[in-house]
Amino acid sequence: MIAYKPQKHPLSQPFDQGTEPPRKRGIKILWISLAIAAILAGAGYIGFQQYIKSNTHDYYKVLVNGQAVGTIGDPSEVTKLVQAETAEMNEAYPSLKMSLRTGNISFEKISEYKGTADSQATLDKLESSFKMSAEGTEVKVNGEVVGIVKNEETAQAILKQIQNKYAPPSRMKSSFPKVQLLSTGSANQTTAPSNRIAGVKFAEEIEFSQKELDPSKVLGQDQLKELLSGGKDAKTKYTIQQGDCVGCIAQKFNISPEVIYKDNPWIQDDLIKAGDVLELTLAKPVINVVTTEVQTEIITSEPQVIIQKKATLNKGQSKVIQQGKAGRKQLTYTVVKQNGNKMSEDLVSIDVIEKSVPKIVVQGTKVVNSGEGSDESVSGKGSGTFSWPVSGYRITSTYGSRWGRMHKGIDLVGSSSIKAADEGVVEFAGTKNGYGKAVIIDHKNGFKTLYGHMNSLSVKTGEKVGRGEKIGVMGNTGRSTGIHLHFEIFKNGKLQNPLKYL
Ligand SMILES: [Zn+2]
Repeated sequence: MIAYKPQKHPLSQPFDQGTEPPRKRGIKILWISLAIAAILAGAGYIGFQQYIKSNTHDYYKVLVNGQAVGTIGDPSEVTKLVQAETAEMNEAYPSLKMSLRTGNISFEKISEYKGTADSQATLDKLESSFKMSAEGTEVKVNGEVVGIVKNEETAQAILKQIQNKYAPPSRMKSSFPKVQLLSTGSANQTTAPSNRIAGVKFAEEIEFSQKELDPSKVLGQDQLKELLSGGKDAKTKYTIQQGDCVGCIAQKFNISPEVIYKDNPWIQDDLIKAGDVLELTLAKPVINVVTTEVQTEIITSEPQVIIQKKATLNKGQSKVIQQGKAGRKQLTYTVVKQNGNKMSEDLVSIDVIEKSVPKIVVQGTKVVNSGEGSDESVSGKGSGTFSWPVSGYRITSTYGSRWGRMHKGIDLVGSSSIKAADEGVVEFAGTKNGYGKAVIIDHKNGFKTLYGHMNSLSVKTGEKVGRGEKIGVMGNTGRSTGIHLHFEIFKNGKLQNPLKYL
């Protein structure tokens, strides 16, 4: 600010003039002479005054915040300097909102005999005291300043770009294919698997604050983006401790289990043990994008096989009286990802899109040759349909390529009793590598089921078991990640998705 404050100088005050009283007539002449002398003196005085005046110069004392910095001939020189500096500054930082801090500039007028102002020195001094400042937005991540950009809009735009990398707007549509329940036998209905992003956020707390600062500290968009989302990948090795699990290690390092599977392709079905060494890639960007995705997957549900006993048909004979037809189920998952890597996955629903039609087979029970009893209460031959091996079950992991690895079965938690999913003969009851205490039941119809990680077994090899019969207690044996049942179904030696049959 420039304030102009004129002030009177003592030199500009007029001198005092005395007057002499008249005395006698005799001295009139003298008086006249004196008067003439006085006039002459007066004239001399005026001349002197005029001389002083013509040699007295007005100039100004310049003060910044009340402190004298020098003198100047004309205050407009300071105004011109401020204007020139402002123009130069705006040219140097065209995209920033700049201000020139000059301090509070004021002037005091000085009229002094033969006075001169040291204008150039004062202007130089002023110029070097001016400070440029820019308006900027400080970006703080979890309370720490990461960088400064010109304004909040710029910061927001950078964050949006980082977010869009993992949550492109095209995948954030609000419309979501509704599961349609169709009647049996309806034509092909296309409900393609989908993957929609339901929510996106940053894992960190991000704050902005407006600041006045040095313009050289203001970063460009790309610089801040690099600071926020960059960060070099660090490779490290980790030796598995007793009680570790893939998910636990992932959590410990704040990385996705997917990264662990990718780096360590030897891990099968979460089977790790203390002493194994894992390769870990630890990427440490300053901010992490967390997306919540709704994923759907459609699986075929195999038709049930219903066996009807018929006394009029000879034993050993069978007839298919209704051909089965496969149905379809939609599995819906909620998947949480960090920077595109899966952190958690929950199966939220299984919906029947198209009901399967059961296959009905009539089997004869008529005994032609007498002498043999017909003890068929437990034949050891399965029906081809399966019931859940756990009551009050919840699926904690589904079958297939998940987390960048193949999961051979489904994981279930629920009540502790493990039940045979169908009638059959126990083919194996004991400890199986990786599976801990396990049971394999041969259903004698092409199907086999496997039950792993059990705490205890209540059947023996060779024993016939009925559907729903208890075969053991749920546990955490083998390379397990907590108390659960790992359940697999094989058809003619090939692994199946158990949810096709359940
Ligand atoms: Zn499993």
